[in-house]
Amino acid sequence: MKYRNMGSLDWKVSALGFGCMRLPPRRINRIRADTKKSIDLIRYGINKGINYIDTAWPYHLGDSEKILGETLKDGYREKVYLVTKLPIFMVRKSKDFSKYLTTQLKRLQTDYLDGYFFHALNKGQFEKIKKLELLKEMEEAKKEGLIRSIGFSFHDTLPVFKEIIDHYPWDISQIQCNYMDTCVQATTEGLEYAHKKDVAVVVMEPLKGGTLVDPPLEAIEILNSAKEKKSSVEWALQFLWNKPEIAVVLSGMGSKRMIDENCEIADRSGINSLTSQDQKIIERLARIYRKRIRVPCTACGYCMPCPEGVDIPQNFACLNNVHLEKSRFRRFQTRRTYRKLKSSKNKVNLLDPNGNGMLCNKCGLCVDKCPQRINIPEEIEKAKKNLRKQTTLFSMLK
Ligand code: SF4
Ligand code: SF4
Repeated sequence: MKYRNMGSLDWKVSALGFGCMRLPPRRINRIRADTKKSIDLIRYGINKGINYIDTAWPYHLGDSEKILGETLKDGYREKVYLVTKLPIFMVRKSKDFSKYLTTQLKRLQTDYLDGYFFHALNKGQFEKIKKLELLKEMEEAKKEGLIRSIGFSFHDTLPVFKEIIDHYPWDISQIQCNYMDTCVQATTEGLEYAHKKDVAVVVMEPLKGGTLVDPPLEAIEILNSAKEKKSSVEWALQFLWNKPEIAVVLSGMGSKRMIDENCEIADRSGINSLTSQDQKIIERLARIYRKRIRVPCTACGYCMPCPEGVDIPQNFACLNNVHLEKSRFRRFQTRRTYRKLKSSKNKVNLLDPNGNGMLCNKCGLCVDKCPQRINIPEEIEKAKKNLRKQTTLFSMLK
């Protein structure tokens, strides 16, 4: 494993961090995480040299923090930097700060956090922090030794990001970054801005919720034309580790195979290690994806569960895949996947949502929860219109 500097902190962090929001699911309720498999998996990652662990209050409906509490027993706690986040969207008054922090320390079975972040800051939540003077609470917790560094994760635009960075001497910021999203959210300019101010930058969504893992045919042709062969995942991760401004790249790894693959790629990583030819390949790949993506959903699952049982990320994955794919056969498969989602109230599983857009009643409950600011009901409607058409394989191949 390669280790990197962490802004102004004296930490040596593994280039690859373990994001605990995509742990192995339970068999019955797939939003929840399977305890035994998750403990085994996270410890496997730590044994391979990963020393940065990221979680948050809502991940897997609270299971993520509880599972980490069990995982980090038997000497594992001392091996890692552990970060969780204040669910700022649930905070109503200043006193809520200590209520959540105390509960999270209890869930994580630890006396201290290496990092405590405001979760998913945007303009509105940032105003709340100022109004409720929550940075004072953070500093108090730091003085008491309950937290060791202060940070925030971010989902809004560049001006808001700069405003937040300028407001306080943060230790860490966590932003969405991948080769497709250089001009959205904090953007590359924001990344460089934070770095100049000595704020360590942790990257989330390096593969854009898996979008960059499975390339369409056009992108495969570009990958094949490269002098040095790399997998689609390696191109995406090396793009990030090439940048001196990035400390840790988080990956939500759900299997040992993914951990092995990512650790091997991390071993080959290095700052400024990509050639100008490599950069050109990445730019070409980004152009292909940008042209075809319909909904910027990262499958984070923050909008879930939908009370009507709509599997929102799966609906959007189908819509995007149908546009990303050049292969008729794979487009046919995607439409079939969509039609397998349930469209009637009697058949849908509310505990483990598996419904399509037919079930959406446009209640709007999901909209404010989406960090990508997607108008979910509107896009779900588009997915429905686009994907419900009955197509046979024969008609697609004609
Ligand atoms: S708007 Fe539709 S998708 Fe969103 S929570 Fe309501 S029913 Fe579910
Ligand atoms: S719609 Fe938004 S909140 Fe829901 S999974 Fe996609 S990006 Fe996440």
